[in-house]
Amino acid sequence: MKEILSAAENFLYENKGLELSCPILVCPFCQKELIACYNSLSCKRCELCYPIQHGIMDFLLEKECYWVSGAFSHESKNYEQRYQSLEKAKNYNLQKKKEATLSEGKIIEKLLEAQGKTKFLLDVPCGGGRLSYFLEKNTQYLIEADIAYGQLLYGQKNFQSAIPKIYLRTSALRLPLKDNSIDAAVCIRLSHHLHSEQERILLIRELLRVSSRFVILSFNDSYAFKNIYRGWKKRLEKNTMSMDEIARIANDFHADLLCAPNTGFMRTHRYALLIKRENSNIILKEE
Ligand SMILES: [Zn+2]
Repeated sequence: MKEILSAAENFLYENKGLELSCPILVCPFCQKELIACYNSLSCKRCELCYPIQHGIMDFLLEKECYWVSGAFSHESKNYEQRYQSLEKAKNYNLQKKKEATLSEGKIIEKLLEAQGKTKFLLDVPCGGGRLSYFLEKNTQYLIEADIAYGQLLYGQKNFQSAIPKIYLRTSALRLPLKDNSIDAAVCIRLSHHLHSEQERILLIRELLRVSSRFVILSFNDSYAFKNIYRGWKKRLEKNTMSMDEIARIANDFHADLLCAPNTGFMRTHRYALLIKRENSNIILKEE
């Protein structure tokens, strides 16, 4: 039976999470090491300070009313502005269909189980923590990351955990993590919200850069029955990807697409498991 921690134990775990994550964190803008100060982390090179509030390390910067996230299409940027407040996060999480979460969670759990237990597992975007239950069984530490502060707070408040969690407010396109510093990353229901192909490639590259072993990524399948039908009706949704496309992008970043199951014939989403080849590093060019 799963052990549920008390609030005091959670507090201790929260602080342990901060301590544990320090060696794997870097500045998301220059990839240099960070210096831990009281209630913040700072980068000497960029002269930026990242605050820590309620155990959430905040790596998002705002510029000209948009978050500096690495997204560049207007549609993707607008998507990022939503659900920042706790109230909006609450409404969003209450709307989410439990049935869809259960079938999604089970498929991810199965993929994770087959890969063996991880030490650090990243869940980005974690939202209000709807999939945490399925992820925490297969890892020692769970890194919950989201662009929306409200979602992270909602997850913290509403889901008790049996393992230590690390909370990061960050963009999935610009993660504050060292190369190969975590075992694996799970990225569910984000790629189809990115409106340009370059952004989707950037996302896969970033997830593979920080992960040493594997990545699980959901995508809206171009060849799903519903999407083919929508194509006939000329109502094809944008932001779909094919398995071939995922395999090609993975190959460019030293990984192989092992499988991409879905939760049913009528579902449009697939869950790609990308296995990183041994000793491979993804070199990021200086921007
Ligand atoms: Zn920096």
